[in-house]
Amino acid sequence: MRRISIFGATGSIGESTFDLITRAGGPQAFHTVALSGGRNLARLAQMAVALRAEVAVTAHEDALGELQDRLAGTGVQAAAGATAIAEAADRPADWVMSAIVGAAGLVPGMRALAHGSTLALANKESLVTAGPLLMATARAHGATVLPVDSEHSAIFQSLMGEDSRAVERIILTASGGALRDWPLEALQNATVQDALAHPNWSMGPRITIDSASMFNKAMEVIEAKELFGVRPDQVEVIIHPESIIHSMVGFHDGGIIAHLGMPDMRHPIGFALNYPERAPLPVARLDFAKLGQMTFRAPDLIRYPALRLAHEVMVAGGLSGAAFNAAKEVALDQFIAGSLGFAQMSHLVEASLSALWAQFGPTDAIPTLEDVLAMDDLTRRTARGLAAKNS
Ligand code: NDP
Ligand code: MG
Repeated sequence: MRRISIFGATGSIGESTFDLITRAGGPQAFHTVALSGGRNLARLAQMAVALRAEVAVTAHEDALGELQDRLAGTGVQAAAGATAIAEAADRPADWVMSAIVGAAGLVPGMRALAHGSTLALANKESLVTAGPLLMATARAHGATVLPVDSEHSAIFQSLMGEDSRAVERIILTASGGALRDWPLEALQNATVQDALAHPNWSMGPRITIDSASMFNKAMEVIEAKELFGVRPDQVEVIIHPESIIHSMVGFHDGGIIAHLGMPDMRHPIGFALNYPERAPLPVARLDFAKLGQMTFRAPDLIRYPALRLAHEVMVAGGLSGAAFNAAKEVALDQFIAGSLGFAQMSHLVEASLSALWAQFGPTDAIPTLEDVLAMDDLTRRTARGLAAKNS
């Protein structure tokens, strides 16, 4: 029986993964090794019992007692804290879903790869902060990284059977997020509620706000470069409000292969779960006649400074990705807390990068995990300091 673990089980991606695993037979079809969650202990315990997991881990050490109480007599072990999550990733598993939100997802994913597991990677922060290290670890241990981000799953599927030397460009589609049609001047007054109203995708709150600011797309540009080994100038972004084309690959003969479907994360998750087979999935089917048309427009770099910053980060290389992600996480925390305006998020990220840029230095060496975590920490302190000074 295939051994699986889900990190970030109680989130939006985690729930969809749980749904697919349950439909496939749950504990009759899979041996569940570990499930991790954060504050939602009731749901974590419920899922762990339903899948008869070996261990359920919460990220919060202060929640251990409550998780133990919820799991008493069920045969599922309880554990807590970031170290316990990393240890759970050391338990042998064939297939591991990486769906924690934020840089906290990096370590468990790296541990799973070091054990040769297939990593279904939703946590794009892992690739933005430590792409070269993550991919090198996978190669060194014969592990497979399967993208779960819908755009990258689309690109992966468009590349199947193709010669990577024939790839000319990767075209990432972007919905434009909740504030796509707002006048530029109004963006600075956008509230958290405004940014959470995504037109097409149902996702966790942080990535939904990142979609409105295009920080999500900026992260995905870097993610594509790392996953598919292309140059920064080979990754393009096009706004496609209908979110039907999930992304495309352009080849050097002028042909383009695109991946289409209704926007439902159970497709890329299910694709990664069943790979290399293509199994039937319970997603809505695309009706072209009903759709009628698909539209496209170029992204405006004044409106979306995050896209410009992503390009600078890719060119600078080294630890810039780790700094970019950490500064973005701080800016997002502050926007959610009400202490930073929507349009100020990119200013804070840019100011943090400028303050730290001297330390990134272009280097051929792949940064170590310690380097990445140290840069993450330094950037968070720098960004918080800058935000405090400006408030
Ligand atoms: P959610 O916020 O819905 O879920 C996040 C999960 O991580 C929850 O299980 C949460 O626990 C847990 N968690 C939160 N903070 C920590 C922490 N510090 N340490 C350990 N676990 C933690 O996020 P999503 O499911 O939307 O996104 C997950 C990842 O997938 C992100 O990297 C996102 O960018 C990526 N992704 C998501 C897509 C989507 O459709 N949602 C699409 C493409 C990529 P709890 O809720 O119990 O507190
Ligand atoms: Mg995406």
